[in-house]
Amino acid sequence: MNASPTVEITGVTKTYGKVRAVTDISCVLREGETIALVGHNGAGKTTLIKLMLGLIGPSAGTVRVLGEDPAAGQFAARRRLGYLPENVSFNMSLTGRETLGFYARLKRAPLDSVETLLHRVGLTGAGDRRIGTYSKGMRQRLGLAQALLGRPRVLLLDEPTTGLDPALRRSFYEIVADLRADGATVLLSSHALTELEGEADRVIIVNRGVKIADGTIEDLRRIAQLPTRIRVRYSDADASRMDEWIGRTGAWRRINGHMLEMDAGPEEKLSLIRRAASADAPIADLDIVPPTLDELYAHFLGSEAATR
Ligand code: ATP
Repeated sequence: MNASPTVEITGVTKTYGKVRAVTDISCVLREGETIALVGHNGAGKTTLIKLMLGLIGPSAGTVRVLGEDPAAGQFAARRRLGYLPENVSFNMSLTGRETLGFYARLKRAPLDSVETLLHRVGLTGAGDRRIGTYSKGMRQRLGLAQALLGRPRVLLLDEPTTGLDPALRRSFYEIVADLRADGATVLLSSHALTELEGEADRVIIVNRGVKIADGTIEDLRRIAQLPTRIRVRYSDADASRMDEWIGRTGAWRRINGHMLEMDAGPEEKLSLIRRAASADAPIADLDIVPPTLDELYAHFLGSEAATR
């Protein structure tokens, strides 16, 4: 991808006394990229986000956001940065509309964007209610609207979908897709790996402050070489033919009376699928389940532990 870099992190280490929150991390994030930053509790995700926001400075290395040092006194690019913290907290006695208006003034964003954003996150009707009466999901959506003020070029969203029901999660990812199309860099820090599949262009895995994987899900699948699960279904009438067929095709696991599955390594996957799809195979249906992001994550954590 040739898009311009928006965030450049080079050899960054951050220590708090004896605690190393982040160790020698380098990465470049680009325009129009949606990146999932994943890792266990305490892995260093929030520290990385704070470094990009300039809330803290690195102990070693450099951070550049939109070409500037975010920890420097003059950080003009701050207005082009959107941030949704892990725990959004607002003044409960203000209304949603007042709160967004307040942040719009702080960010010097046009005041009419308040209405557009309230609408975008589905809070137009609740805009004049006190935030104290909002549900957690509504507060989370207000937080997102706040992060979107000023049409940011870089959005840093810490656990953004916590508290959102599936429908709201969908609409959240639609907003992310619009931002990506508009050329923004969107960094999503999350534990919810399964839901990030299909949403993130790239995944960065951190563990104990160290970056242990960085690439598209396809890259990570290629590197991990994990097997693909192939599941076949057959009808009762074909049960005996099926016994004979699996005798010829190897290590299937029985799921139930009419379903079998097998883990196929990258080299045998295609030939197995061809055999299962051939006219003489007594198979009614076939599912191909590639390794999930959860499985890839476990794999990379496991290989990192093995090298320690
Ligand atoms: P979570 O998923 O739980 O939010 P995280 O990946 O965001 O975790 P960080 O909050 O970045 O992790 O923390 C990384 C490490 O740095 C942890 O060991 C944490 O205890 C430590 N740490 C973070 N901030 C401070 C601080 N201000 N003082 C001392 N240690 C800190």
